[in-house]
Amino acid sequence: MVKTSKFDSAYLRRVNCVKTFCAIREHGRISRSELAEITGLSRATVSETVRELLDREFLCEVGSNTTSRGRPPVQLEVNPLRFYMIAVEVDVGWIAVAITTLVGEVLVQSREELRTMDYEFVLDLCVDTIRRLLKEQRVEHDDVLGIGVAVPGQVDLNRRVVNFAPNLRWRDVSLAEDLEGELHLPVLVSNEAMLSAMAEKWFGIGKDAKVLVYVSVKGGLGCGIVNDRSLLLGVSGSAGEIGHMSIDPNGPICSCGSRGCWEVYSDEQAILARASKALSTSKDSFLFQLRLAENRRLTVEDIVHAANQGDTTASEILKETGWYLGVGIANIVNGLNPDMVILGGHVAKSDLLFAEMTRVVEERSLQIPWERVCLAPTQLGEKVALMGCIALLLDRLLEQPDGRLNADSARVN
Ligand SMILES: [Zn+2]
Repeated sequence: MVKTSKFDSAYLRRVNCVKTFCAIREHGRISRSELAEITGLSRATVSETVRELLDREFLCEVGSNTTSRGRPPVQLEVNPLRFYMIAVEVDVGWIAVAITTLVGEVLVQSREELRTMDYEFVLDLCVDTIRRLLKEQRVEHDDVLGIGVAVPGQVDLNRRVVNFAPNLRWRDVSLAEDLEGELHLPVLVSNEAMLSAMAEKWFGIGKDAKVLVYVSVKGGLGCGIVNDRSLLLGVSGSAGEIGHMSIDPNGPICSCGSRGCWEVYSDEQAILARASKALSTSKDSFLFQLRLAENRRLTVEDIVHAANQGDTTASEILKETGWYLGVGIANIVNGLNPDMVILGGHVAKSDLLFAEMTRVVEERSLQIPWERVCLAPTQLGEKVALMGCIALLLDRLLEQPDGRLNADSARVN
């Protein structure tokens, strides 16, 4: 006979809490019996889980408690304005901060452009922006359950430091502890692609996926992998660095020191390098004219826009990038057998790139994994990583017996 260990019961409790909370969040007002039906949990388990969530004030009851005939049963909903969460995204040249309710509804969002990515400067700006938004929204400090931060880099979840964020030029910075020291709120810091994968699972098109991979094409190329409801972290929290899978052992040197990494051919820097090369010969292209007229550097958004307008040079650049993305994603499909791969970043807005990528994935995938996989561009747009911060906070909050986060909440071990 298999005994239920302490770990198993804690795990089950967490799964039931997440299942119940998500069902209520997605369906709005709902009765206990409807919850049992939707979640497949027994009535006793639903009662117990709901009681726990009511005690933590994550839920509230709506309607009458009297059980007289004809009266509708008491319904449950997520306590709308009892608690708040804060999401922060740091990227090259900007930070974004949002305050949300427990259901992930954004109350306010602010984006600050930066002249420098100097760590102390960015830290101070995050602190000031959070304080300002809390004051503007009249949100009390004690009603904030936590802060989630997305960074484009590797985060050592055991030491709670941003290990290496090459595009920010940060190494070994204690972002979580530094923010906690200033704001006296629990802080979880994680990788932007991982958080985006969480966002798709909680709020996006990946809700029903069993194995979900999010491919984030930005200044680098990162992946987040969600298996069932759990983020695949690896032993130190850096799983998903598939951008550094070598697709040409003798290819160009990557920022990681290796050669021919997938991201060297597929990230935004690769796209801009292709544009720069193409524009040295295609002087009649719309992109060339745009650069000349506005006297500024082109962005990937410009290239996607130009391709969507039918510009041949921009279309060729994105088609080539789609080809490389397809090569890497075929490796992911063969290696991980996911049922959903979601493409994120500005490139997700290019139908042409997406079509070429899909063609190559089909061509290079093994039949069995290809038959079950769905490829899709993200529908969450630019707020995907912010929503991922909220998803991570919720995931960890529901795990805590007292519904409060602590410094261990995001550690791997
Ligand atoms: Zn690399």
